[in-house]
Formats: sequence, C-alpha cells, structure tokens
Amino acid sequence: MLLLHSVEAGPVATMGYVLADAQRSSAILVDVPLESSAQLTALLRDHDLRVTQIVLTHGHFDHVGEVASLARRLQVPVSIGREDAPMLEDPGSMFMSMPISIEGMTPQQLLDDGDVIECGELRLEVLHVPGHTTGHVALYERQQGILFSGDVLFHSSIGRTDLPGGDYDTLMTSITRKLLTLPDETVVYPGHGPSTTIAYERSHNPFILEYLEHF
Ligand SMILES: [Zn+2]
Repeated sequence: MLLLHSVEAGPVATMGYVLADAQRSSAILVDVPLESSAQLTALLRDHDLRVTQIVLTHGHFDHVGEVASLARRLQVPVSIGREDAPMLEDPGSMFMSMPISIEGMTPQQLLDDGDVIECGELRLEVLHVPGHTTGHVALYERQQGILFSGDVLFHSSIGRTDLPGGDYDTLMTSITRKLLTLPDETVVYPGHGPSTTIAYERSHNPFILEYLEHF
C-alpha cells in the first residue's frame, strides 16, 4: 500500500507531499512550501523514511520556499521542469515586493515531458503542463491512479495565469489534453486545497465547463 502524507504550510497555504512505496524503502517529496521543513522532517522521522529525491511541480516561491536548505540537510537531488529551473536559481526575483527572502539553488535534474521518476515500486510520469508557469510539470502514478497537479488544476478551480510565464490558452490546453484525458478515478492532489478526482473536475469545475462550452 502506498504511503501518502501531506503538509499545508506557508503564507498562502501551499501543499507539500510525502510519497513512499509499499516497502517504505524510499520516499519522494513533492514541493517544499515555506515553513514546511519541520513538519516534513517529523513525518519522515515518524515513518522511518529515507528520501531519495525532491521533485518540484514549478518554480514559484511558495512551492520551493525551503527546498535549498532541506535538500542540503537530506543530501538529496532536486528536480524541476526544465523551463522553470531559472526561477529556482533566483526564487525571490519575481516577487521583489514580498518581504520574504528565499534561498535559490541549482537543480540536479531537469524534467521533460515523458520522463519517469522512480521511487521503489512507484513510477511518477512527468507531464509537462505549461500555462501557470512555462516549465510546470504534473506527476502521474499510473498504477496507483494518483496525480500531483501543482498549480495547474485545483478542486473546482484552475491556476492563475496573470504571473510572468502564465498564459490562459496554454493552461487550458494543458488541462484538457494532458489531465482530463487521464482515467476518471484518478485522484488529484493539487498545490493548494483539498484533493479531487479527474471525473469530478471534468463535470463540475466551472472554469473547465466554461472553456469546453466555447471550444
Ligand atoms: Zn504557482
């Protein structure tokens, strides 16, 4: 049985996830929100998990807030979508007006569409889903039927497209071609808010329904 835990932390309530396979031999972290390190570290200790990799859905400050220090402490590589790597090098640059200083870092691995991240028995397929940021990736575990959607798809909502690199048409194309084509029962774990399913969003998400009406 899969082990999945979430933390919600930071000034804009960002989700981070801990994922481990049945053997509990190794674990992956998906996103490292600001002020999440203590919670994440406690989860790893309580479940006796060894992290092998940190994967970031995209480069926004609230998702990468504590990744540099945590990766250093855990001595693990960090991966992020290729086009978002520059944001990770300098995460504060987009948010000069914010009174938060965020340590940048150079990712060890750049992700492209179709890449596979392995963690024990788990296989996370990388889906490049631009539109919220240019290098945003979603992570799909086919066997378990779960998707980490970052800030692309939320419960009854979609990611904002008014920040640098954002584009509405690109986002909707990513959602309809890459995510809504996944099986109905796929459970979606987003970067903010509660989990949902592909079937629910296809039939209830007002932004998706409005878009599909016009195309
Ligand atoms: Zn974001």
